[in-house]
Amino acid sequence: MRPLRSGSRNLTPKQRLHETGISTRQLPVRLAPCTDELLSSWIIRHATFYAISPLAMLQHCLPEVLSLRTADLDLTKGQVVRIARMYSIDPATVHRMTFSNIPQSSRRLIAGEPRQLCCSCRRTVDGSPIILRSQFLGWRITCPLCKGPLQRIGGLDRSSPFSRYHHAALIGERTLDDEAERGIQNWVSPSEIARLLLMRRVPKPFPDHYEPSNYKVLGVIIPDLDDVLKMEPSELPTPLNPILPLHLRAALLAGVAIVQRAGSEMLYMLRGHMMGENKARFGNAIDEMVERTRQPRASSQLHLI
Ligand SMILES: [Zn+2]
Repeated sequence: MRPLRSGSRNLTPKQRLHETGISTRQLPVRLAPCTDELLSSWIIRHATFYAISPLAMLQHCLPEVLSLRTADLDLTKGQVVRIARMYSIDPATVHRMTFSNIPQSSRRLIAGEPRQLCCSCRRTVDGSPIILRSQFLGWRITCPLCKGPLQRIGGLDRSSPFSRYHHAALIGERTLDDEAERGIQNWVSPSEIARLLLMRRVPKPFPDHYEPSNYKVLGVIIPDLDDVLKMEPSELPTPLNPILPLHLRAALLAGVAIVQRAGSEMLYMLRGHMMGENKARFGNAIDEMVERTRQPRASSQLHLI
């Protein structure tokens, strides 16, 4: 015998929304987004208000989107417009709440969960914490809203062993942010430099107990890094997962700024600290980067002929 279906527990999210009077055209009650709030955070707040699950709230408008993370990262223009219509808001505002503007090269530096927060800009509205875009950005050490220092989530705040590189780190943060948020590049992609700096190198002189993963190309530019990484092997970043813990992040940002300023000669010098396949991969990557920077100049010169 089939169980009797009664009560809202047996309704699908769509039916439940229908019962509460929410149409896909427009929400009867809309909550104002906060500055720099992430789209998923805003949807979660609406879901709490309408007492449904966040995914049901999202899929009520966009049934084809399978997760809140996808909504944060990869909405099409059409999907942005549909959300904007349902929430009675400007599409440009919805677009700004996502990471859709961030190019592929910088996306490795977007964390899968909030990694940091700004104590001055932290907000809770009607009991729900507001999650900001900046909490996921692996190139930030300062808050984009108030410029104050960000703090680590989930663990004690630790002082940075790289505080003397703070000024260079702020320059690196700005160049990575310009590339990611505004598509502005210097002579080469800063996020690509960040990736290369996290490749392994062979230390000179060769140590007695050599653990390859302890030595990064970055350590040539920021010599304190080797010792710090030996003490904290669990914090080791990789080119595929380049987001450093907040207290170590200044080293990578400063490294990016130093290479940007020094130019391609420094990249070729760094290649000399590598061996074998890694050296070949590094060499190919910098040849391609340098070639790309030459091409626009060459083509603009052709236009002058
Ligand atoms: Zn702030």
